[in-house]
Amino acid sequence: MTNFLKKEKHDLEEVIKYQNSLIELDKIAKMLIKRDLALTDSKEKLIKEKGKVDAVINSLTDGLIMIDLEQKIILINPKAQSILNVTKEEKLIGKVLSELVNFPQIKELYEVLAKTEGHCREKQCELILKESIEKIYEMQTTLVVTETQETIGTLIILHDVTRERLINKMKSEFITIAAHQLRTPLTGIKWSLEMINTGTITEEEEKEFLDKAYQSNERMIKLVNSLLIVSHLDEGRFVYKFFEIQIENLIQEIIENFKIQIKNKAIKCIFDKPKIPLSKTKVDLEKIQMVLENLIDNAIKYTPQNGKIIISLKENNNKIEVSIKDSGMGISKENQERLFTKFFRSTEALKIETSGSGLGLFIAKNIIEAHGGQIWVKSKEGRGSTFYFTLPID
Ligand code: ADP
Repeated sequence: MTNFLKKEKHDLEEVIKYQNSLIELDKIAKMLIKRDLALTDSKEKLIKEKGKVDAVINSLTDGLIMIDLEQKIILINPKAQSILNVTKEEKLIGKVLSELVNFPQIKELYEVLAKTEGHCREKQCELILKESIEKIYEMQTTLVVTETQETIGTLIILHDVTRERLINKMKSEFITIAAHQLRTPLTGIKWSLEMINTGTITEEEEKEFLDKAYQSNERMIKLVNSLLIVSHLDEGRFVYKFFEIQIENLIQEIIENFKIQIKNKAIKCIFDKPKIPLSKTKVDLEKIQMVLENLIDNAIKYTPQNGKIIISLKENNNKIEVSIKDSGMGISKENQERLFTKFFRSTEALKIETSGSGLGLFIAKNIIEAHGGQIWVKSKEGRGSTFYFTLPID
């Protein structure tokens, strides 16, 4: 082979080699593009998944904070920000808890964590934050451990239990007062029965004690009924059945039922019945009767002998207004504010009339408001009171 041919062959072999390398490179490039596409795909999937997790964390109704082993905040959701009274602009991520003492709520959180030995324990404790009202949070701390069993920080969950605690407190107060109230008539019955049991009293005295026991029993039934109503009201289990009625007829009937008490106290009771019948109103008859009975009963109870009660009615602005005016002991300004709360009884009322529960006006307010009406009082101490309530016509 000539030198020329030898060179030609060598060149050709080089070209083939080069071509093969190009094919190889093309293959690699295609593989890389494929891998890159797969990576982009996984990255997109990851971003989507992260978006979902973020959305869940952000919409949690509990506060969520995660701190790393150096107590640096690495996650805080909007609910936790609002609980700790910080805004998004405060940029808490990456900051150490102990350095954030300017934020009073974070300081509290840090102190509670420190007391419970911080992030090294799984604990449940209470965080009490003083805002306009006191807020109580159940604080649950949990260690965050990876699949390789490495602890990377602590998750703090803040759950608002303010309402729960308030209800529990109210319930135990309710039980204490209810038990206290029931003790008086029960003691009355016990005492009467003991006297009868001695066998040393006259027939007349025996009749008197039996009558007292009967009155105490009646009081107890009334009280238990009121307590049941209040507990139904508190649980939202007070059911209303509405019917159209003519309110002046109902008032007339109720006054008739109080005839004996009115006569016994020589009270002048005037029913200022409208000349023209008022529009009918849709009410739960039994419950409005309860309200009217309570207001008229109070007017009689807290008005001395020879007093005066005037019951009036008027209709305007699509509502009926009922007023019950008495010439009794009246109510001080201070007591007027507490009148419609559970178990309230003024000290003056307690002296005059021992058999009250302080639940009547609380129940009345609930009933009237459930009808879409309002109830209020105008009074001056020693100069009588007027109770008003309204009922919508529609
Ligand atoms: P009770 O009459 O059983 O005590 P209420 O809830 O009906 O319970 O009334 C609560 C308190 O409001 C009474 O104890 C009394 O102090 C006051 N009160 C209610 N009505 C009158 C009234 N007409 N005049 C003066 N005080 C009243």
